[in-house]
Amino acid sequence: MSLLDKFASVKPQLKALAATGRNPFAVTFDEILSATEGVLDGRPTILLGTNNYLGLTFDAECIEASRQAALHHGTGTTGSRVANGNYADHRSLEADLAAFFGRRHAMVFSTGYQANLGMLSTLVGRGDHLILDADSHASIYDGARLGQAEVIRFRHNSPEDLRKRLRRLEGRRGGKLVVVEGIYSMRGDVAPLQEIAAVARQYGADLMIDEAHSMGVLGERGRGLAEAVGVEDQVDFVVGTFSKSLGSVGGFCVSNVDDFDLLRLVCRPYMFTASLPPAVIASTRCALSRLAVDTGLRARVGANAKRLYDGLSRLGFDVGPNVSPVVAVALESREVAVSFWNALLDSGIYVNLALPPATPSNHPLLRASVSAAHSAEQIDRAIEAFARIGGELGLVWPQMRAVAAG
Ligand code: PMP
Repeated sequence: MSLLDKFASVKPQLKALAATGRNPFAVTFDEILSATEGVLDGRPTILLGTNNYLGLTFDAECIEASRQAALHHGTGTTGSRVANGNYADHRSLEADLAAFFGRRHAMVFSTGYQANLGMLSTLVGRGDHLILDADSHASIYDGARLGQAEVIRFRHNSPEDLRKRLRRLEGRRGGKLVVVEGIYSMRGDVAPLQEIAAVARQYGADLMIDEAHSMGVLGERGRGLAEAVGVEDQVDFVVGTFSKSLGSVGGFCVSNVDDFDLLRLVCRPYMFTASLPPAVIASTRCALSRLAVDTGLRARVGANAKRLYDGLSRLGFDVGPNVSPVVAVALESREVAVSFWNALLDSGIYVNLALPPATPSNHPLLRASVSAAHSAEQIDRAIEAFARIGGELGLVWPQMRAVAAG
């Protein structure tokens, strides 16, 4: 009898996956050559599943900033900001973020996961109500579990269902917080934020948006969906991550609420963990300043996203309702998805394989994420690989391949 016996059912599933090719949960790159290329099993591979939306991981200025920070301030902070002290650069990064989002306050966490864990478990507590989109990221669900609020889910992207849930709460005591994402991480679809904000406001609920996948991608200044659709003044809290458009690691929350800084003394995922190391802070600040001034990055990731989305939908693939840098092909069968994913890797294309139950609507997904750094030729090679393999697996008709090529 082992404590791990309860996970015994995972073993045959992994074995079955391994029998059809690689283990999708243990992909190991021999080398990363650039923001868009790596080496996998000795083969040059196009990275099309890394959330590196602006391609800044190899930005020379950011690497140099990071190097200088390590040289001058050491490799790590070796403690929490509350117990062991802040570095001036933590404060500077928070000031940069507040300025970027046009908000009074910012708080930096060691990951985006912890930002959600921290904010959701402290903003609402016993007697309060946390109203989540059903397709929320795991970090949002885990934040809900860590806190004491009543958790209510509404149908994905449905302002009507949200209204129904909030109406039922009318007259009940306690605060209400509605949480949505800008671009949803698995399907790449976008929240109907104007409608959701209007409903939240009508029923007196606060609104939080996780802009993890939309920061740097949407909005005139790259602030995300709330900026793009003009409702920033109706959003009370914005959370996000440094691990996507900013090419490093870490998370944040920005807000205009009074007394925001009190959270630093009650928010356990902020207090009881080591703060970000100097090198990470430096590259993040550098990437944020690039994001703010280089609108070309946003234009390029947008154009690449459209190229891939259009190419795959012309082939007849179900790529979801919105063009965004997350382009996910929904397939019917798990077996076909696994074979397809392995064949793409054999052709030098790396995308993510997402399998139910970890996917919305229980469809297996081949999830690509597009970068500003991809060349049109790399995107076209990916489309061609999807066309060829889709044809071999009986998913793409020859006529469609011709249309896509034309
Ligand atoms: N929120 C969303 C919507 C995400 O997709 C992710 C990561 N995939 C996170 C939060 C967590 O971010 P991090 O990787 O910084 O922990």
